[in-house]
Amino acid sequence: MLRILLLVFFVFILIVAPVAAGAESLINQVLFSRIVPEEHRLEGKAVLTLVDPRTAWPSEFSLAAQAAIDAVTVDDKPVPFTFANGRLRISIQSGAGTLTIVYRIRFDDPVAQDHVGIEDPSLGVTATIMPQGTFLSAASGWHPLPVNAKSRFRVTITGPTGLYGVTSGRLVGLETSETGSETTWQTQRPQSALALAAGYYQVERDTLGETQLLAFFSAENATLASGYLQSCREYLQLYQELFGPYPYAKFAVVENFYPTGYGFPGWTLLGSSVIRLPFIRTTSLPHEIAHTWWGNAVEIDYSSGNWGEGLATYVADYYLKELHAPAEALEYRRKILRDYAALIDVGDDLPLTAFRSRTSKRDQAVGYGKAAMVFHMLRNLIDDEAFWAGLKTVARDGIGKRYAWSDLQRHFEAASGMDLGTFFRQWIRRGGAPQLHLTDVSVMPVEDGWQVSGTILQDAPLYDLAVTLQVETANRKYNQSIGLAESQNCFLFTIAEHPVSLSVDPKSDLFRKLYPEEVPATVNDLRASRLPLVVVARGSEALLDASRDLLLGLQWHQSPVMNEDDYLVQRPTDRDLLVLGWPKSQELLLNLPDGFTVAERQVTIGGKLYSEADDVLFFVLPGHEANRVTGYFLPGSLAAARDTARRISHYGRYSTLAFHKGRNQIKTTWDPVGSPLKRLFTKDAMP
Ligand SMILES: [Zn+2]
Repeated sequence: MLRILLLVFFVFILIVAPVAAGAESLINQVLFSRIVPEEHRLEGKAVLTLVDPRTAWPSEFSLAAQAAIDAVTVDDKPVPFTFANGRLRISIQSGAGTLTIVYRIRFDDPVAQDHVGIEDPSLGVTATIMPQGTFLSAASGWHPLPVNAKSRFRVTITGPTGLYGVTSGRLVGLETSETGSETTWQTQRPQSALALAAGYYQVERDTLGETQLLAFFSAENATLASGYLQSCREYLQLYQELFGPYPYAKFAVVENFYPTGYGFPGWTLLGSSVIRLPFIRTTSLPHEIAHTWWGNAVEIDYSSGNWGEGLATYVADYYLKELHAPAEALEYRRKILRDYAALIDVGDDLPLTAFRSRTSKRDQAVGYGKAAMVFHMLRNLIDDEAFWAGLKTVARDGIGKRYAWSDLQRHFEAASGMDLGTFFRQWIRRGGAPQLHLTDVSVMPVEDGWQVSGTILQDAPLYDLAVTLQVETANRKYNQSIGLAESQNCFLFTIAEHPVSLSVDPKSDLFRKLYPEEVPATVNDLRASRLPLVVVARGSEALLDASRDLLLGLQWHQSPVMNEDDYLVQRPTDRDLLVLGWPKSQELLLNLPDGFTVAERQVTIGGKLYSEADDVLFFVLPGHEANRVTGYFLPGSLAAARDTARRISHYGRYSTLAFHKGRNQIKTTWDPVGSPLKRLFTKDAMP
């Protein structure tokens, strides 16, 4: 979203404009906007009236600095005005009926063809009018915006035949003829600036109750429209149950000619290439629909931190997984923790109050990831009912207002009857994450069973936490939640059966700093390697040729290749390695974490032995040096190697893969067995 631009815009207004005394005026604006794509031009006419004639006319309007003003009239009579630096100053006498501003603006921000490596989600485009399409952001000043007053808009966009414009509001007119096309929108809710998109679209419509569901897609993507509308219907139904009534007259999915993913009041603008991706309907779309409540209807007070991305991520990207595939939800929480551990160094973390918008993966790990986990912890703390009830009141009372984290706190406190001061202080205003330790773990036989005890510690600065501990036996799991407000606390389980393991926070419900051992190396780490080295194990020389598709898939086909003996002589440690075949030397030995058994060319994973000619194993493990990884490609035969090689790079998020006859049997990433917050109790280790 164009949050940063909006922020700059609001700040600008606050600095420049004197605060108007008395009640804020509400303006009725009728906008006529002709798009001339070939000339990158917008020809505009704005007709303004006061909703309540007793309120005062604003004397200042912002408009794109490059605009040419053709006429300013009050009740059809020209009036003097000045226009400089994007400020239009008009002195209007009280009692004036209608103010009309006629203007022209050229918008031609260049749109880069190659977007690889650009982190800025706006791609640097604020406003552009082109034959391929038009996008005018709310911050671009494409229509006069009264300073310190909100408006209701009726917007008519005209252009060449087949060109339709989309902005906020209900679609009240859509006409086309040989001489041109015209689209008209009417907003109800008072708004500040509008964004606008226009292009040669096919329009598909549906309704959900009173709400218009619309798709504006290019002819090329028009067949996707009905699927998108079906998804809009489903998500709007779900979110109305969770948040209350949908705040706008329509929801439109609109195609953009360059790859954006914006959410505006009542519509989303997705790039052509984005729309075609099969997962967008279930990921970006619900995220943007969630933003119509969180960020659009309830606006964000950026000065105290952007909570909208964390909430949209939690209720869409995360919560939909929880509804449909709980295992994926668990994996999503772990991914948030892993991203944070990988991207944020200790002492290098901004508090959520400092997050404004995503400009890098690091910002994303905090403003989206950590914030989503904060909502998750809040939901666990105050319980489901109070959480959703709290969100409903935020949506109901916050509509049209600019809300800070503290406003959310107020609503969740009211819904839960709990004092959430400590919670919000430690998670929102403080940067960083708790670091937990597990010590003094002991297992003792007692009269009618076993006792498992130990101590949980945390580093300073201290958090007030509820930590879930789990003891697993052969038959069941015992959970216990212990408070950890000081630097340490003890715990004790008394159970009837032999304990098998003890885990801290087994479901990753807590936002915490992971240990390096908890951040597994994955196939993606190999793919991202800048210093790859292929090592061919002694006796596996024929495997190099059979691994060709694997190297291609990992983009390692240009990588240097060494045999095991040369590797042992040179010992280059600053490389990511891919070992082909079972190595003979101690240095390259496959060293798997607990839970795997490695015998002579055989590995047991989850009780299943992989040793056959049709089996292929692939592991990615931490390398010799920090930030380096080592991959092992271990096929049971050359034929199995050839058959499986091309498949492996498709399993980027995983660190352990097992295939049988070319079909994937095991794909795992997370290995809590290797976590310092987990203990395994073997029977012989027990008293
Ligand atoms: Zn978002």
